[in-house]
Amino acid sequence: MRIVFLGPPGAGKGTQAVEIVEKLGIPHVATGDMLRASIKNETPLGMEAKKYMDQGLLVPDEVTIRITGERISQPDCANGFLLDGFPRTLAQAEALDKLLADMGIQLDAVINLQVPEAVLIPRLTGRRVCRNCGASFHMVFNPPASDGVCDRCEGELYQRSDDNEETAVNRLSVYNTQTAPLIAYYQEQGVLKNIDGEQEIHQVLVSIGKALGKNWA
Ligand code: ADP
Ligand code: AMP
Repeated sequence: MRIVFLGPPGAGKGTQAVEIVEKLGIPHVATGDMLRASIKNETPLGMEAKKYMDQGLLVPDEVTIRITGERISQPDCANGFLLDGFPRTLAQAEALDKLLADMGIQLDAVINLQVPEAVLIPRLTGRRVCRNCGASFHMVFNPPASDGVCDRCEGELYQRSDDNEETAVNRLSVYNTQTAPLIAYYQEQGVLKNIDGEQEIHQVLVSIGKALGKNWA
């Protein structure tokens, strides 16, 4: 299966993605995770990306298109992948279409997680992420069993530097202007599946499963 996760920052893409890739046996391709790994490794690409990410702005299209293209061309993506956080602009969506056409493949579904804006800021500012496996938790809405420790792998939980209120507000505004138009783009392609992302976490998973023809109840 080739799936794209669409939705504003804090919609629950990462939370659902880690469960779904396990169920489907496909790689989780998250551009934000790839960029944060480049920052951690202090690569030139990471240093360039950090300037944008710290402000809540999008990293230039040419960078994210290149790293995503390289990633989905790898052998482990041959039977499918879940794209999380890409595409985020119309130029990225068009580049992805071209890339897939060149590879002779197409998207099976674009899952659009819908969450009201008022819920997103508290979700982002309370988020804690595992340094090891990338799983998302929340101080209030989805707390780990043990403070600061990942339930899945016992890795250390940390707060992303862009999950402060000011940067989160910028990210939502960037989403509204640059990414939200992709909803109509994929609606026209007939692959869009709207999911109520305000439901309880497991119920969101069940709804996504239904949209993909799976019974994950
Ligand atoms: P995204 O990857 O879309 O930016 P995340 O999956 O990291 O979003 O979720 C953002 C925050 O909201 C995390 O702290 C996560 O634990 C929490 N969260 C995710 N889904 C839900 C949900 N259905 N209800 C309440 N909180 C949620
Ligand atoms: P995320 O982990 O998806 O919340 O992304 C964190 C940050 O990485 C975003 O605020 C952007 O600065 C950058 N980023 C991630 N994916 C993309 C993308 N597809 N295009 C541009 N910037 C991106």
